[in-house]
Amino acid sequence: MVLPDIKSQAREELAARFAEWTVPAYRLDQLLHWLYVRRVTSWDEMSNLPRDFREKLREHFSLQSLELDTKQGSRDTTQKFLWRLADHSLIESVLIPANPSLYGEASDRHTLCVSTQVGCAYGCKFCASGLEGWKRNLEPHEIVEQVLAIERDYSGGTLPTNASRSSEDRLKAGLQTGSERLVNNLVIMGMGEPLANYDHLLKALTILNAPWGGGIGARKITISTSGLVPQIRKLADEALQFRLAISLHGATDEVRGKIMPVNKKYPLKELAAACEYYQKKKGRMITFEYILMAGVNDSLEQVEPLAKLAQKLHAKVNLIPYNKVEGLPWERPSEPVQEQFLKNLEARGVTATLRREKGHDIDAACGQLRLKTERSLNTLAQ
Ligand code: SF4
Repeated sequence: MVLPDIKSQAREELAARFAEWTVPAYRLDQLLHWLYVRRVTSWDEMSNLPRDFREKLREHFSLQSLELDTKQGSRDTTQKFLWRLADHSLIESVLIPANPSLYGEASDRHTLCVSTQVGCAYGCKFCASGLEGWKRNLEPHEIVEQVLAIERDYSGGTLPTNASRSSEDRLKAGLQTGSERLVNNLVIMGMGEPLANYDHLLKALTILNAPWGGGIGARKITISTSGLVPQIRKLADEALQFRLAISLHGATDEVRGKIMPVNKKYPLKELAAACEYYQKKKGRMITFEYILMAGVNDSLEQVEPLAKLAQKLHAKVNLIPYNKVEGLPWERPSEPVQEQFLKNLEARGVTATLRREKGHDIDAACGQLRLKTERSLNTLAQ
């Protein structure tokens, strides 16, 4: 029998179970402290819980942690983690310091880009994650663990070189005692379409947001979607104030439809209406992610409809120069073309940024490290 994992349980669920077991309420706080503050990986480490209670927990719940397969760091200190799950599937998380050393600033604040599925069914033409299809949804604890496992790794490991000595020491000491969080921003933008794993994602984010869990503010959590219209509307009706980012990558159905099959099911008009609903319900600015691909969506003809859409929805536009994926034909536009696109957007009154892909030298575009590792494992197995 497969046991449910303890880190897929909300506090109320555990409280109800402990009440049935007639376990005193304070034991729940002790357990949650071990899980989310001390980030332990075994029941035996929970030294202030009575042995028979630990046995009971062991009988009813699993306590899985992610196994690190590969870690890659890049010059600008973005780091990519390839994790092996209990069923040997591979997933990725990318850790991005707030101020890369490239710009000469120190920071102990980090954004973590989290995966939500093994593979992806949505098949965006520019993306490595969708290349070999969808395998399964991640369980809530597998999403939660991406944060905890990286913090565990850092508490014993070396911090990025851009962290100043004093903040490095403070952070490391804090991580070891559990009084500090390394990850204070989440972007749900890794492998998979987050809103296609809606229930598990919401459960995981509820745990990561809760004061008894991760304690990461909902406003520091951005959910990115390729444009699943019904789920965007559903998310708008949730109580938590997550930020929403849309992987747009094309401002007309013609261009978007060429690179994102999802656009056939949910064309731009429907997507824009769902975004408007989200924006009105939450009163928050939406972000459009727009990967600039040479000769595909970087022409000035895309600027006008993109500007109109952004203004209508009070959306900010993040322009991201394409990150080359092995085996795919797309190229990144030249820097003057990127700059021109940005300038033309700004001239139309749109708030826009042009981002250098921080993990360019470590295959940080989603799914690439996993794809490479799986392919080389398959080759070895042949
Ligand atoms: S961009 Fe996102 S939705 Fe599209 S294939 Fe890649 S992981 Fe899936």
